Amino acid sequence: MNIEHWTDLAACRGEDPELFYPVSATGPAIMQVEEAKRVCAGCPVTADCLNWALRAGEPAGIWGGTTPEERRYLRLKPLPTAPAWY
Ligand code: SF4
Repeated sequence: MNIEHWTDLAACRGEDPELFYPVSATGPAIMQVEEAKRVCAGCPVTADCLNWALRAGEPAGIWGGTTPEERRYLRLKPLPTAPAWY
């Protein structure tokens, strides 16, 4: 396998992208958020994904096992140093 970027190892490759973009964080969408987070929990590049989303200020979707609201909270903290492949 030729790995050029962390996204090459993403567990969500092949999943329905809509799973990672719930319409809200409440009501029936909670089940969708939990399902997306289950995929992220088994992903080998969760830290890279979360780091990217925090640095990009990604405003929507589940990235690195976090919701937009959780990332807004995490952005209040200083970011760690980026790995070499950013
Ligand atoms: S952490 Fe989640 S959203 Fe990010 S690459 Fe892995 S499976 Fe995809």
